Amino acid sequence: MTKRVVLIGHPVAHSLSGAMQQAAFDHLGVDAAYELWDRPPASVAEAIAELRTEAFLGANVTIPHKERVVPMVDKLTEEAHATGAVNTITKEGRKLVGHNTDVPGFKVALDKLVGRQKMPRHAVVLGAGGGARAVVHSLIREGFQRVIVFNRHLHRGEAMVKHFSRSAAHMDLRAMPWHESIIEAELSKAKVLINATSIGLTADESPIPGEILTPDILVLDLIYARTRLLREAEKAGCATSDGGIMLLNQGAAAFTLWTGQPAPLDEMQAALEAARAGGLTSAEGEPGAAEPAEA
Ligand code: NDP
Repeated sequence: MTKRVVLIGHPVAHSLSGAMQQAAFDHLGVDAAYELWDRPPASVAEAIAELRTEAFLGANVTIPHKERVVPMVDKLTEEAHATGAVNTITKEGRKLVGHNTDVPGFKVALDKLVGRQKMPRHAVVLGAGGGARAVVHSLIREGFQRVIVFNRHLHRGEAMVKHFSRSAAHMDLRAMPWHESIIEAELSKAKVLINATSIGLTADESPIPGEILTPDILVLDLIYARTRLLREAEKAGCATSDGGIMLLNQGAAAFTLWTGQPAPLDEMQAALEAARAGGLTSAEGEPGAAEPAEA
């Protein structure tokens, strides 16, 4: 019987995950079909309950439900617990296990960007949503000593910092108000800048002016596109990376969790590129161009 794997989100129509995961199943001869389930918040509990039946191998969860499903699963991995967000569900019989593969996905992207240099210790993170939680958790685990979070709504940044207060007790993790002069002052001390906002996703906008970037800063944008931020950072002489590596590797980690097999990265990457060239634009976590992030 063909097993079912579903992406539960709202909206999901433009997701790149379907192409990437189906290519991986097909390449390795896994008899599974990846389906996109667009479910508004009120229908998520019902969708999660349906996963308990035998037909399902597991699921991905995306915006705006990553935090909502946390209490709906039976068990959480350390990463899902620490971030308070689930993007992948596996099964143990009828029991559901919640994982967060954005964390290992981000780590691969960060490692590639840092390359052979020593892992930096100071970072600036823009954003405080689900993606930013995976970022901050990873930076804490990597041994960063100072991480400053800027978010449009300061209270959300502060809530995220509070969420990590225990694991970040040994270091300086702070939320600061979004003022260009404060961001510039913090960037002058930082080695890494992560954009975990959705600014640049649907319009050619940058969260910060390129002039405040100096060439020694490594810039990682979670958005899977050559955003204005990345273009301006390149112009300023910075090493940069977009969200493609994170997207690919969070998907690869999910694939391995469902199937127990190493993910065929080359095939998944090719499927991602083909889907994007074919007009699909969304990375996981995308609020969607037409609908608000929080329904
Ligand atoms: P959320 O909706 O949880 O968070 C969105 C963030 O963007 C918030 O910090 C929000 O600030 C900020 N934001 C949105 N619009 C504006 C604006 N106009 N001005 C200032 N700030 C704004 O989304 P996610 O965290 O899930 O995703 C964020 C980005 O990361 C998306 O672009 C997504 O594609 C990407 N992503 C990529 C992944 C990958 O695998 N490459 C994985 C996960 C995410 P506020 O709180 O003030 O509203």
